[in-house]
Amino acid sequence: MRWSQYFLPTLREDPKDAEAVSHKLMVRAGLIRRLGSGAYSYLPFGLRALRKAIAIVREEMDRAGAQELLLPALQPVELWKATGRDEVLGEVLIRFTDRTGKEMALGPTHEEVVTDLLAEVKSHKQLPVTVYQIQTKFRDEPRPRSGVIRSKEFLMKDAYSFDVSPEGLTASYQAMYDAYQRIFSRCGLTVLACEADPGMMGGELSHEFMAPADSGEDQVVRCAGCGYAANLDAARCPEPRATSLEPREVSKPLEVVKTPGQHTVEQVSRFLKVPASKLIKTLLYEAGETPVAVLVRGDHDVNESKLARAVGSARLKMASAQMIERVSRAPVGFTGPVKLDGVRLLADHAVMGVVNGVAGANQPEAHLIHVNPGRDFTPSLVADLRVITGADPCPGCGKRLQFIQAIEVGHVFKLGTKYSQALHAVVQDEAGSAKPMIMGCYGIGINRILASAIEQRHDKDGIIWPVSLSPFHVLVTVMEANQAEPLQAGEQALEALTAAGFEGLLDDRPQSPGSKLKDADLIGIPVRVVVGKAWQAGRQLEVSLRATKESTTVSPQSLVEAVHTLLQKVSDTSQSGKGV
Ligand code: ATP
Ligand code: MG
Repeated sequence: MRWSQYFLPTLREDPKDAEAVSHKLMVRAGLIRRLGSGAYSYLPFGLRALRKAIAIVREEMDRAGAQELLLPALQPVELWKATGRDEVLGEVLIRFTDRTGKEMALGPTHEEVVTDLLAEVKSHKQLPVTVYQIQTKFRDEPRPRSGVIRSKEFLMKDAYSFDVSPEGLTASYQAMYDAYQRIFSRCGLTVLACEADPGMMGGELSHEFMAPADSGEDQVVRCAGCGYAANLDAARCPEPRATSLEPREVSKPLEVVKTPGQHTVEQVSRFLKVPASKLIKTLLYEAGETPVAVLVRGDHDVNESKLARAVGSARLKMASAQMIERVSRAPVGFTGPVKLDGVRLLADHAVMGVVNGVAGANQPEAHLIHVNPGRDFTPSLVADLRVITGADPCPGCGKRLQFIQAIEVGHVFKLGTKYSQALHAVVQDEAGSAKPMIMGCYGIGINRILASAIEQRHDKDGIIWPVSLSPFHVLVTVMEANQAEPLQAGEQALEALTAAGFEGLLDDRPQSPGSKLKDADLIGIPVRVVVGKAWQAGRQLEVSLRATKESTTVSPQSLVEAVHTLLQKVSDTSQSGKGV
């Protein structure tokens, strides 16, 4: 390919709307262009990289025994109503009415459609089956951002497994989990397989594959000791164990103290001179008929995912000021658990360890001191209901945890029978009785593979592609492309490399040498061949690696060998993920 005729426009300036480094580089290196909010065009250079990611995903899905199919993006909303997910997705689901008046949607994911399709299977003998597709999804995201990392239209690989038994599901899940590890490793990505909250999908077990990156919207915790990794929403806080070494404070009688104008944890803690860990925060939520009051320590935060699971409702809403005032009979900021009637009282484990604590008095401008859980109030449920903090030990081994920003590139779920029950996907088992199929679903964001690879592999000058995703293997830059002789040398180099099976791009543009070298760094092709000074001096080519800038000079006859050696070198690091 000759750059002079290739639609690969590069930019010196960062786009104004971009914050994430991958977004900036993808635009500047001519991979993508924005059409509108959350919609991007892939230019030829970007599409080559996208196709490489797709090929790796497809190979590994096939190797894991999954069968490729293609489902329509156009779906009847009726199907979404059957599982109740039209409401769960709300405005994220892009809907419209077709010419016959039928309500339609553009698929944000395909559990409903695929379950409806597989309902044709009637016998356990036809299972297990795992199917997958690589297809455009549509989600009217409230906050599209970071270029293709969160867009409204994006490419997903989604797979679905159908089994008769829970053991079968475990095997199907494991096969996908292992395939994901191979996919991300082949893409040169460092990922953490994190325990995750199954969220809106329903189901029991789920892992998210998180690519550590500064631009990541998610936070995960990781233990360097035992390898435990979890999404912040799912990270388990171990139940505190009272150590017999610490003498327990003697409980004192409950007292009301005036705390005028002291609403927040910081204010109360300063005013009463007690650490935040002695405060008991009371938060009210609306969840169906009875409001829910949740207690966490002053130095902790409620984890709404854990709370939703404990309450058994996905529809939790912070109570309004009016509701707080009605339930607690006091202004906002003075709610407490003692004599709080008409609520379901839930407490985080850590609250139960507080001795002589401080809580709202359910009276204006007052708090209670010497509050003792068990004596002064009894929760109906004590559970892990808070967000893990830096002070918490690893739930696996007790060591210190790291907090890492990351991008979710993939997600695997054990779904169970939620969809097969709703959509009547039932098979006869061995004993002849009808059983809903047991499902799993498995997604990968293809665009996020590229963005995450760039997040993890770049320097101040541009992208450093892993060989497996790079749009081309070699860039041949002719410094003086207006002179026939060096241009011909460049063409011959490209020909030799192409004949040897490498994908090459020839920079034959009339630009200045300085600007060509800048572009070469920006677009990040792993190996660069320069027809420049060494050519003028002694008919030699300069071959170098983008990643390390290490460079050698070779004769045209040794070019293929030299390129091969350098690519080998960087492919090895990308396989082991050490290139980060
Ligand atoms: P997120 O939490 O980031 O919104 P999700 O959990 O809703 O993502 P899934 O339904 O699990 O996403 O979709 C499977 C995969 O599709 C995700 O792991 C992610 O890689 C990708 N993906 C999801 N939403 C988007 C989006 N708006 N733009 C690009 N890729 C996306
Ligand atoms: Mg997800």
